Amino acid sequence: MRKNIIAGNWKMNTTLCEGVELAKGLNEALKDKSPKCDVVIGTPFTHLATVAAAIDTDKIGVAAQNCADKEKGAYTGEVSAAMVASTGAKYVILGHSERRSYYHETAEILKTKVNLALANGLTPIFCIGEVLEEREAGKHFEVVDEQIKGSLFELSPEDFSKIVIAYEPVWAIGTGKTATADQAQEIHAHIRQTIASKYEQTIADNCSILYGGSMNAGNAKELVSKPDVDGGLIGGASLSVENFLPIIEAF
Ligand code: PEP
Repeated sequence: MRKNIIAGNWKMNTTLCEGVELAKGLNEALKDKSPKCDVVIGTPFTHLATVAAAIDTDKIGVAAQNCADKEKGAYTGEVSAAMVASTGAKYVILGHSERRSYYHETAEILKTKVNLALANGLTPIFCIGEVLEEREAGKHFEVVDEQIKGSLFELSPEDFSKIVIAYEPVWAIGTGKTATADQAQEIHAHIRQTIASKYEQTIADNCSILYGGSMNAGNAKELVSKPDVDGGLIGGASLSVENFLPIIEAF
């Protein structure tokens, strides 16, 4: 069954104390509620273990925002998928456009990270999306297909079934510009079709495809009302309970 998921991406925000307070606040706000979606928070590496210990992880999943493309060893400063899993985190965000552009993460590197994440029992939230020039040139379908094929299409059907996709048009991330619900639906349906052309239709039907890009309390309801939009990956609006909770309640 396809899951609805609302995932926060805190990026490089909050000190450890602030992050734990934010996570505890969300935990408290959800205590007596039964959200109609899975809830995930993507914290900095330094916060993972403390946040996971401070909240009800059956109710709120914890995600890292990255992991290394190496298993272990002499890679100073890197954090492996096994280390992430050992904190209690269950998810890892991979291929975010900020990592693709600032840290030059290629399809090949991301393929390795996805494989390591899966081997360590983590659910990858795999981000794809076009930049503005590509959208304006009508190349957005092609771009997302290449990103999916380049990093995910060597996975077995069983492993592919564990992937969550986040479609994030780069022109909408942190800009206040959101894709319209119709634009999101159009490309999400296309992504699902691309998956169905490689794997079985049921695998495509069961894949959660999240929208990301300036999603907020005001636009979440319309976006998630679309049949192929299964939730959201939320940056800015995940940094306060006040802004994040109404997005969770959009379902
Ligand atoms: C993101 O970073 O994944 C994101 C969607 O950010 P924002 O919601 O701030 O646009």
